[in-house]
Amino acid sequence: MAEPVIRVSGLKTSFQRKGLWLPVVRDVSFDVAAGETVALVGESGSGKSVTAMSLMRLYPPETCRIEGEVRLEGQDLLQFPERRMRDIRGNRVAMIFQEPMTSLNPSLTIGDQISEVLVAHRGLSLKAAAKETLALMEKVRIPSAAKRMQEYPHQLSGGMRQRIMIAMALACRPRLLIADEPTTALDVTIQAQILELIKLLQEEEGMGVLFITHDMGVVAEIADRTIVMYKGEAIERGATGEIFADPQRAYTKALLSAVP
Ligand code: ADP
Ligand code: MG
Repeated sequence: MAEPVIRVSGLKTSFQRKGLWLPVVRDVSFDVAAGETVALVGESGSGKSVTAMSLMRLYPPETCRIEGEVRLEGQDLLQFPERRMRDIRGNRVAMIFQEPMTSLNPSLTIGDQISEVLVAHRGLSLKAAAKETLALMEKVRIPSAAKRMQEYPHQLSGGMRQRIMIAMALACRPRLLIADEPTTALDVTIQAQILELIKLLQEEEGMGVLFITHDMGVVAEIADRTIVMYKGEAIERGATGEIFADPQRAYTKALLSAVP
């Protein structure tokens, strides 16, 4: 089997509160291979987002301690100096979140925002970036992309904005996409379209996807393998089909009973 894109071993994240370090995520281990989608599922507050943020070391080190190993294509990110993390976050790993509006600049056109990523991270000229921006917008199925490039984020629907975030993520040609509840804020039909798009692009691009959700219905749609989180710990893992057919833990059964 090929080396995983990311391998997480014994991840533990603690936050400082009143002089004490309180662990919020404990003993979380998993890997994601190229071309594979792994779901991290669990109820709100179970530690999914903290896990994702910890992998990219997005918390200030003064108040957050991260232990264990996070190997991206073999290299342990927890040992990297901060300046190398900036390169990892921009270029090798992309993240998308629930509400794309907060990640988009309201005063810059969609086209300029994607172009900015291409210039900053891939070193393209402005002219080449404009051409590539159009190609990326077409790739994520934005209708009338040439016209939409001139628009501002507030002129787009939530689903279209999430497509733009996916285009910006792909602009860096990431090896790993971390998607934290990317469809949660969307209507059910739009949600299905975005899941389809992520599946399609993953097949084309061959990246690994870590897909975070509280919704087992979404897991069934998208994940090859699933890790169930409960109170900061990974309590069950396996092929998605096996987890659905034969859940071992009562908590997993409860999550599944919510699926229509
Ligand atoms: P979810 O599974 O819903 O994404 P989170 O990972 O956001 O859950 O949160 C897990 C737990 O960690 C929660 O109890 C939350 O209150 C706590 N937590 C999240 N972020 C912080 C933080 N920056 N500082 C301290 N505690 C946090
Ligand atoms: Mg979360």
